[in-house]
Amino acid sequence: MKNENLYKTLCEINGAENVLRDEPMKKHTTFRIGGPARCFCLPQTAAQLAETVEACEEAGEPWYILGNGSNVLVSDDGYDGVVIQLFHNFEAVRIEGCLMELEAGVLLVKAAHLAAREGLTGLEFASGIPGTLGGALVMNAGAYGGEMKDVVREALVMRKDGKLLRLKREELELGYRTSVIAREGYVVLSVLLELRKGDPEEIETRMQELRTARTEKQPLEYPSAGSTFKRPEGYFAGKLIMDAGLRGYRLGGAQVSEKHCGFVINTGDATAEDVMNLIRHVQSEVSRQFGVELEMEVKTLGF
Ligand SMILES: Cc1cc2nc3c(=O)[nH]c(=O)nc-3n(C[C@H](O)[C@H](O)[C@H](O)COP(=O)(O)OP(=O)(O)OC[C@H]3O[C@@H](n4cnc5c(N)ncnc54)[C@H](O)[C@@H]3O)c2cc1C
Repeated sequence: MKNENLYKTLCEINGAENVLRDEPMKKHTTFRIGGPARCFCLPQTAAQLAETVEACEEAGEPWYILGNGSNVLVSDDGYDGVVIQLFHNFEAVRIEGCLMELEAGVLLVKAAHLAAREGLTGLEFASGIPGTLGGALVMNAGAYGGEMKDVVREALVMRKDGKLLRLKREELELGYRTSVIAREGYVVLSVLLELRKGDPEEIETRMQELRTARTEKQPLEYPSAGSTFKRPEGYFAGKLIMDAGLRGYRLGGAQVSEKHCGFVINTGDATAEDVMNLIRHVQSEVSRQFGVELEMEVKTLGF
């Protein structure tokens, strides 16, 4: 990275082994796409995370929090700043009665399985979403009639100036794929879920049903970032795209999935440019044919 002093400071804070230069983002996104992040930091503790953000802010260097990269498209040129990844660390879990406190780097899949093991119901919807709790809260992730909003009691977040806030469900302003965290640029440190006592067998069965539904309906055999577009009011993005005649439409290595038209997939060698060109084409065709504007659900970085 250009700012050598910042690099040294980040190494002092996190340990040199946790500060990588020119790290290919394709290794950290489920799209398997993305050029290098000039710097890629893996803080191990909340204090290191706070100091890392403070150092970047002081140096005027852009920074970006990454979970499991399952909802992000990174440009082919990469990101000229510091990516701070919480996944792989921040994985503590505490369960007390119907309350589950999870650090931001815990995968939803793991959380759902832990809940099932404890006979706690409410998180079944999340058992096939490949994100972390942090990413899921920011996006108010949801599926099959459930969403984070239904199960979150409160969250511990950090502001850009390092101040910690404990926000209750109402204060999180969770809406369709959005939250106050996304709008204010907060960092999620941990999430407190409130679940209900249930029958472990029924919970397992429901999770299995949802897994089967996903495997049947979604192109899980290809890298993607899940649903590419938000659901436009009154419509389904996938159906509009199919009706526009774009099923299987391909640009370079990017393709509108034949299995589920709401997914843009990487058929193997897609570039971020292929994906963006395909997204723009889909948006303009759907707008031209049906007058509906498709908004991206997937976040972009480095464009
Ligand atoms: C096959 C597949 C299926 C999917 N199915 C669903 C589904 O059914 N429902 C659904 O809602 N989504 C789905 N997704 C999308 C994705 O898994 C979710 O949006 C998930 O919540 C993203 O979590 P993440 O940790 O991967 O976040 P990332 O992709 O790493 O980040 C997403 C956004 O959250 C921010 N972020 C991440 N962690 C934090 C944090 N700790 N603090 C602050 N900001 C943070 C990032 O800066 C970024 O803006 C799917 C994706 C795939 C690949």
